[in-house]
Amino acid sequence: MKSTNHKQLSLSLALIVSFVAATILFCWFYFFKKFDVVFILAFSVLIFGTIYFFATYFFQVYMVEKIRLIYKNIHNYKISKKENETQQRIISKKSLEEVDTEVKAWIEENKEEVAELKRLEQYRREFLGNVSHELKTPLTNIQGYVLTLLDGGVDDEQTAKSFLQRAERNIDRMIEIIDDLEEISQLESGIQILKTSTFDLASLTREVIDLLETKAEIFNIKLTFAEPYEFPIKVSADKENLKKVLANLIDNSIKYGHNSKGKGKTKISFFDMDEYVLVEITDQGMGISEEHIPRLFERFYRVDKNRSRDVGGSGLGLAIVKHIIEAHRQSINVRSTLGVGSTFAFTLKKG
Ligand code: ADP
Repeated sequence: MKSTNHKQLSLSLALIVSFVAATILFCWFYFFKKFDVVFILAFSVLIFGTIYFFATYFFQVYMVEKIRLIYKNIHNYKISKKENETQQRIISKKSLEEVDTEVKAWIEENKEEVAELKRLEQYRREFLGNVSHELKTPLTNIQGYVLTLLDGGVDDEQTAKSFLQRAERNIDRMIEIIDDLEEISQLESGIQILKTSTFDLASLTREVIDLLETKAEIFNIKLTFAEPYEFPIKVSADKENLKKVLANLIDNSIKYGHNSKGKGKTKISFFDMDEYVLVEITDQGMGISEEHIPRLFERFYRVDKNRSRDVGGSGLGLAIVKHIIEAHRQSINVRSTLGVGSTFAFTLKKG
């Protein structure tokens, strides 16, 4: 479509009107057989000038001012007098089509913003619901144990001890959930700045394995390396955060890594990938069916809700892991086959 601004509109209007006036004059002179070309020309120029002047003024006042108001509203302008004049000059050069395109683009942008706000609102609601649900379960359990103790359970030493131990386990679970929530909110707000250093990934993994060895024995899981990795595997990353990543993934392989015979083996492998090291943690557990994979790293997402709560998961582990890996500008993914096992793989920059 042809571009039109207010000066071009005035020009077209003045040309049309002066042409019509000249034609009428010409016909009038022709009718009375009295030609005065100079007069026709002078009259047309006068008409042209007057129309052009008034039309420009009119469009300036009504059109450009109205457009400027639209611009002011859509861009939420708060400008000085000087900026106002500059802006007016810019707008007066714009064609109506340009203004139309810009307003349409602004509407689209706003639609996207509103959709994003709605999505965030829904996410916030779900998140609050999840948090209260997660905290309510252990709290209700603790209330139950305390009430039983008050109802006379406290008189029997054996019962009292057992109920207090159960209450303590539920308190631990609440603390774990709150710690994870704190961790995730720090990661999301960007308060946590990575303290990157170069260290040996193999020895950090050995440290994590030592910490989880007892739990692995209880769950009948053998923790192994794919190779002896006697030489250092140098990576550049935030050591403390990486320890959390390894602890979460190895802990999951212990909790969900047993086969139908009730036992399993976790294998940790490192692969050289030019600038990066690929880390894989493979288990022989029940696996994860395909429909769960896209949502696995969401907060509080669980494949088997009861099993996860039984083994003491907060449902936030993988969300924290993903945040940490992404803060390192790397990625994490999962491959899994039902009944065979799962592999969680992520990359790290070599140190
Ligand atoms: P949780 O605290 O429940 O373990 P995570 O965020 O660590 O939370 O894991 C989310 C869910 O993903 C778990 O509840 C579990 O259902 C599933 N999952 C995680 N790791 C594995 C694994 N190695 N094998 C099978 N399922 C797993």
